[in-house]
Amino acid sequence: MRFQPIRVYCLHHVCAEFDAESMNRGDWMDINEFKQKVSAMRQNGIAFISLSDAYSQMTNDKFRNRKYAVLTFDDGYASLKEILPWLEEHKIPVTLFINGKYLDGKSYRKSPKEKYLTNDELDQLSKQNPFLTIGSHGWEHVYATDMTNDEFVASAEKNVALLSSHPRYIPFWAYAYGDHTQFSDTYLRNQHIVPIYIDGMKNYNEPNVIHRELL
Ligand SMILES: [Zn+2]
Repeated sequence: MRFQPIRVYCLHHVCAEFDAESMNRGDWMDINEFKQKVSAMRQNGIAFISLSDAYSQMTNDKFRNRKYAVLTFDDGYASLKEILPWLEEHKIPVTLFINGKYLDGKSYRKSPKEKYLTNDELDQLSKQNPFLTIGSHGWEHVYATDMTNDEFVASAEKNVALLSSHPRYIPFWAYAYGDHTQFSDTYLRNQHIVPIYIDGMKNYNEPNVIHRELL
């Protein structure tokens, strides 16, 4: 059991209705399917823990005699308001990876139909839910490989400045699209921010990096 991995899951929309105008099919999971999956995992002995707890275990090279999982949601969509109360009720920790730019209630990536949490909503959610933490997804949702090093640094500084004013901020950075460069990894680590990938891998005891997979 020494090498029991910790699995970190990446989700986007979990809600009752798929809305073709504002969502991609691959980023949506039906809310009942999600609840059933999470409940079944718990019945099978998997404990959902916070990202910070998971990272602490991986970094401190801890022996694990049970299975752990972590839930993370990318992009900060407004649809999260449907599932977050259920997660809170079941005391399941969750990390939201946020692009600061879209918190203003006006900005969007591709279509004005996209609905993101606003800064006020994020504030409210984190005040009422003690199991919620906030990590970084970049100022805008762009590929790290499409940015110059200076642009990446500017994006990080701006996003971290906004999010770290928040009491529930944690220094973890989920790369948009999982896309990263050697520079971005080194920069984040120098800033004591943990880079997070979406490469489908499980986490053993490897400090400084977190892998994610889809649920
Ligand atoms: Zn994303």
